[in-house]
Amino acid sequence: MPIEVLAPDVVAKIAAGEVVERPASVVKELVENAIDAGSKQIRIEASHGGIKLIRVIDNGLGISSGEVALAFERHATSKVRGTADLESISTLGFRGEALPSIAAVSQVNITTRTSKDSTGTYLNLQGGKVIERGQKASPQGTSVTVQNLFQNVPARLKFLKSIPTESAHISDLVSQYSLAYPEIRFELAVDSKTVLQTPGNGNLRDVLVEVYGLKTAEAMIEVVDSGSQVYGFVSPPSLTRSRRDSLSFFVNRRWVKSGLLTRATEEAYSGLLMTGKHPIAVLNISIPLSDIDVNVHPAKTEVRFRSEGEVFTLVQRAVRAALVAEASVPDTKRAPRPIGLSTATAGLDRTAMQERLFNEPAPAQVQHPHKVLPESRLPILRIIGQLAVTYIVAEGPDGMYLIDQHAAHERILFEQVMAQRARCAVEVQGTLEPVTIELSPRQESMLNRAQEALKSYGFAVEPFGGKTYLVRAAPALLGEGDIIRVVHEIIDMFSEEGDRAKGDEEIAATIACHGAVRAGKVLNVEEMVRLVRDLEKAESPLTCPHGRPSMIRFSSSQLERDFGRSS
Ligand code: ADP
Ligand code: MG
Repeated sequence: MPIEVLAPDVVAKIAAGEVVERPASVVKELVENAIDAGSKQIRIEASHGGIKLIRVIDNGLGISSGEVALAFERHATSKVRGTADLESISTLGFRGEALPSIAAVSQVNITTRTSKDSTGTYLNLQGGKVIERGQKASPQGTSVTVQNLFQNVPARLKFLKSIPTESAHISDLVSQYSLAYPEIRFELAVDSKTVLQTPGNGNLRDVLVEVYGLKTAEAMIEVVDSGSQVYGFVSPPSLTRSRRDSLSFFVNRRWVKSGLLTRATEEAYSGLLMTGKHPIAVLNISIPLSDIDVNVHPAKTEVRFRSEGEVFTLVQRAVRAALVAEASVPDTKRAPRPIGLSTATAGLDRTAMQERLFNEPAPAQVQHPHKVLPESRLPILRIIGQLAVTYIVAEGPDGMYLIDQHAAHERILFEQVMAQRARCAVEVQGTLEPVTIELSPRQESMLNRAQEALKSYGFAVEPFGGKTYLVRAAPALLGEGDIIRVVHEIIDMFSEEGDRAKGDEEIAATIACHGAVRAGKVLNVEEMVRLVRDLEKAESPLTCPHGRPSMIRFSSSQLERDFGRSS
């Protein structure tokens, strides 16, 4: 074919393909427009996965009667004027492409009225062309109805997923925006059934109740950093999902997909979650407009940060601080926290922490410096004895503690290994006699990649001929742990390209697991005291590196109640 400039309708359809990938993309653009228009209430209707009908009704500013048709021209926008404006975009929309793109692939009816116009204006479009227009009475705001989406783009229609899947995408999308804008009342009806309704009272936890249910919402931990740059909620380590689909990130309240923010959040949970488990998070990060670029993706779902490292640290620290502050010893029976109660505990000092954990009143002058982490979350415990050769029984200021000796020791060793490693000061023990170890061909091929890590953790592994290798040294913290098994496990970790930080943790956890005292080992009082003292010094004493609890508490008040000493 000779080269020719494409006809406008072909160009429009190609452009529409980028913006409108699926019915949920239409909902996204219309909801963003409603938010940009300052709406306090937004109602969304969808039927048949959004293919038959999508309607978004808002009570925002509206479009003045003379500009309605213009809004459907490509690159027509009221949000950006010059190139300088692109440096600091504060609205969700800015490309002026959504309405024309949607209109190019569907039938659109719009009715809108501003506060200045006495009657509303309506416009019907088909395949991007205005086929009817007029005036009619209507409330202030805008209502856009999109019908028969992709009817004129069979290729796109073919690639849509099932109706339930497309409906689910719509629900997810509206949920995300309702989480980003708790002050807006959202209502979503799918096939005439109301599936989401938020109060619009500005309280994010109340939106969480609607999106994730009461129990989850109650358990979520509030995240607020000292500079008020990060705000939101994250799940406690005990509440996880097996997929990463419950992580919602907003940058200046724009919903974004971001590997960086995902990693920063998951990093904050390091050592607290079992492998393959993911937290729930809803976090907004406020960043000066000039420090981000939102003009990266046609659907505006990605942003670029000027300083990725700073954003990573900011989010990781804020979430970590909230988790550490909130961490509490699991009670045998724990009363749910009431909704709406502020749980802003980031950076609580030790006294406030005592109050939180043990219901002791803190002195009135306690301030929240929002900076230092508590050095320990454990009170001084008095050892009573060993139970079932597995648990240490201890007494604290508020009740009785059962400490799992293996899990607790694992936690202590894990943190020590990580700390030694971070200081490049791993203590090494030479093996009395060299230990020989046999590697499978697969393991041999991975040994090269594993060598550096093995060395940095204190292992010296060298070839001895054939498939046999000698281990001449091991980390001192491994103690009498099974050197051969640990080396095998570490080498096996290198079979998959993984993320490096995770790899480090896994190695430390393996060393800790094999170095730790086993359940079934009799401990004398000195050993138990040492273990508990070390645990008191740990950064996250309440769980083992895999996220299992290292102790449970029977509170004094609970004991009193159980023995009928109080009501
Ligand atoms: P953009 O949002 O990028 O400006 P759109 O094509 O989505 O581009 O919308 C074009 C223009 O139409 C907007 O700039 C805005 O002025 C107007 N508009 C669209 N939807 C609404 C709405 N719900 N309420 C008020 N104005 C709207
Ligand atoms: Mg828009």
